[in-house]
Amino acid sequence: MIRLELSDQISKFRDEFKAWIKHNQPQKVSRGSSLEAFIEVGKSWQKKLSEGRFIGVHWPEEFGGRGLSLVEEAVIQEELVAASAPQILGLFGLTMVGPVLIQHGTPEQKSKYLKKILSGDEIWCQGFSEPNAGSDLANIKTTAEKVDGGFLVTGQKVWTSFAQVADHCFLIARTSSTGKKHEGLTYLLVPMSTKGIEVRPLKQISGEDEFNEVFFDKVFVPEENVVGSVGNGWKIAISTLMYERVVLTFSRHIQSEVALREMLQDRKSEFDSKLALTVATTCAVRALAYSHLLEYVEGKVPGPEGSMDKLFWSESFQEISKLALAIEGGSLSEEDSPAMLRYLYSRGRTIAAGTSEIQRGIIAERVLGLPRV
Ligand SMILES: Cc1cc2nc3c(=O)[nH]c(=O)nc-3n(C[C@H](O)[C@H](O)[C@H](O)COP(=O)(O)OP(=O)(O)OC[C@H]3O[C@@H](n4cnc5c(N)ncnc54)[C@H](O)[C@@H]3O)c2cc1C
Repeated sequence: MIRLELSDQISKFRDEFKAWIKHNQPQKVSRGSSLEAFIEVGKSWQKKLSEGRFIGVHWPEEFGGRGLSLVEEAVIQEELVAASAPQILGLFGLTMVGPVLIQHGTPEQKSKYLKKILSGDEIWCQGFSEPNAGSDLANIKTTAEKVDGGFLVTGQKVWTSFAQVADHCFLIARTSSTGKKHEGLTYLLVPMSTKGIEVRPLKQISGEDEFNEVFFDKVFVPEENVVGSVGNGWKIAISTLMYERVVLTFSRHIQSEVALREMLQDRKSEFDSKLALTVATTCAVRALAYSHLLEYVEGKVPGPEGSMDKLFWSESFQEISKLALAIEGGSLSEEDSPAMLRYLYSRGRTIAAGTSEIQRGIIAERVLGLPRV
């Protein structure tokens, strides 16, 4: 299928990484393993990658990266999925809070956190969503009250992936309730071991408890843990989401490709026309993402076009997963089959990181320039 080969330099980099993976085979975590086993394998795999300097390659060298472009980062994400390597445990650090600290952090924050994000020694979770603030993120109610030397954070977050294993949480909290909703928000770095934090895992239909509710009861956060300035959290939170969309796009496309390859192996002729359409859609969606990537290489800053990549990938991935289930003949009662697990996983992809409706709104207003209704 599609391969990202823009130049000899990129091909050389891909070959180098493939050869490295061959000699550093990732350990596999079998389904049903304990959360502890999953964390242990994930951490040791990330450490290996960071020792090989194959993580955060697009970060500047002074922060542990290689100063390469997003294309090399995309190549790494593609090859990791192709090698069935475990998911990078510190993904929120790598794709969200890390880039934010590089751009907005103080020198102390950079030296305290960035290297440990790459090595996987410290895992981060994202505390944005709340029971009444998901799509409407500016509606958050968690407060950060100013006290001597810092803030007291009180409120509830929800859908907080990996909070039960995270060392830190980056969150937004309300420091002012006057003025426009998004103007009173502040971006804070909170150690998860702080007194007053309670994490309650939420069980999903797949049996996994990937995400959690997190309760904060007068949790003290020192002043030096504010990123940017007080009241500037909205802008910083939004810049985080743009980064996430770019870096994750390419591993997502390989997930689709792996699923498609499996389907082509188990091909049943009655599904041929649907399969052909799915293959064509997948190639088109991926080609669009590559065209955006080329623009970033030429210096464009990631913007609202990332919503197109996220929307088209998540919806086509759901179609692929549904078709795979039909070909396999699986049903909800056989919830342990790989096709069923993929199908269940795919359901959340049109919600996580912004729902399809929200992406369509962004595309309409900010890409197509249509008027707001
Ligand atoms: C697998 C998964 C992992 C997640 N991990 C995290 C995490 O680690 N940290 C975190 O902070 N959050 C996380 N989330 C939460 C996620 O960001 C929110 O679920 C998402 O933003 C939607 O918010 P909501 O659930 O409150 O739904 P709502 O915002 O209440 O939306 C409900 C429905 O209304 C629609 N809707 C809402 N507003 C509009 C509008 N303006 N126009 C049209 N339709 C609209 C939505 O599309 C949706 O269909 C995760 C979610 C999932 C599924």
